[in-house]
Amino acid sequence: MMIIMKKGATDADIGHVVEKLHGVGAEAHISRGEFKTVIGAIGDREVISQLPFDAMPGVEGVVSIMKPYKFVSREFKDEDTIINVGGIKIGEGYFTVMAGPCSVESEEQVLTTARMVKEAGAAILRGGAFKPRTSPYAFQGLGRQGLEILAAAREETGLPIVTEVVDVRDVELVAEYADILQIGARNMQNFLLLTEVGRTDKPVLLKRGFSATIEEALMAAEYIVKAGDSKIILCERGIRTFETYTRNTLDISSVPLIKQLSHLPVIVDPSHASGKRDLIAPLTMAGLAAGADGAIIEVHPNPEEASCDGQQSLAFEQFDSLMGKLKKVAPAFDKSLATGEYNGVR
Ligand code: PEP
Ligand code: MN
Repeated sequence: MMIIMKKGATDADIGHVVEKLHGVGAEAHISRGEFKTVIGAIGDREVISQLPFDAMPGVEGVVSIMKPYKFVSREFKDEDTIINVGGIKIGEGYFTVMAGPCSVESEEQVLTTARMVKEAGAAILRGGAFKPRTSPYAFQGLGRQGLEILAAAREETGLPIVTEVVDVRDVELVAEYADILQIGARNMQNFLLLTEVGRTDKPVLLKRGFSATIEEALMAAEYIVKAGDSKIILCERGIRTFETYTRNTLDISSVPLIKQLSHLPVIVDPSHASGKRDLIAPLTMAGLAAGADGAIIEVHPNPEEASCDGQQSLAFEQFDSLMGKLKKVAPAFDKSLATGEYNGVR
């Protein structure tokens, strides 16, 4: 249930409603919009609906959210959420490109890539230090050393970093280095991990699982918000279909659909969706046209020698050419490429 407060409601009015909710064992989640404050009440619907909200000062009305996810739903918050990562925006009006290697291999590899993608117009550097690999024998990432390399690249280029955390035991460590914590497709329903990242104050990039429905993805986001963190960026990274020419199938319709259902920003991952370098540019454009707020793209100085996902990584010239096209096309979709100066606030 949502309790909508009047435009001029005071902190005392809001505090009073929260107190009453707590009094009946319900949780209260406050969302302060530009004009109005909305209090999300979670608990026994029957008991909550007995409270005399009409008589409470500052209350405008009460609305019931029928969807299984509440805080991430459009009903809960009508305006689009824009996430600010050290001055770089992700959401309405912006197309934010995150780029970098699939995995951190060496300082030189990450630094050269970071310099290049920044020059080409990317706003955020990606790179995996902990890699969730299908085979236990495949390269698992450099771990802490990888995080240090990413931090050094941020130090030099000013690009904030997004990197994956795969284990609840590493959340604190990864959060020390990362600007955005990535939850990979394979962990989308690792509810303990979702809760643990939700306890940090870091923005979270939540990838849709390759066998997950849109509703399941939104429920996963709800776990993170319930734990306390509402800075979530959803990512469509392709789902499993019968098609074998591509690694997965980019579910492009999920982009406008999620935007209808939720106020959270959505980006696309054409690298993991297609598994094919040649499809990255067209799929990124399709994402932009469908309303995505950005893309996460794998780029490698020498894709042929990449220790992971080389076949779906762009070489520098290809990435540069894609960024050139995006700069031209984005304004047609009321977006501009997010750049901005990283202000170091993490
Ligand atoms: C990645 O971004 O490197 C990754 C492993 O992606 P996904 O979780 O979407 O497979
Ligand atoms: Mn990858």
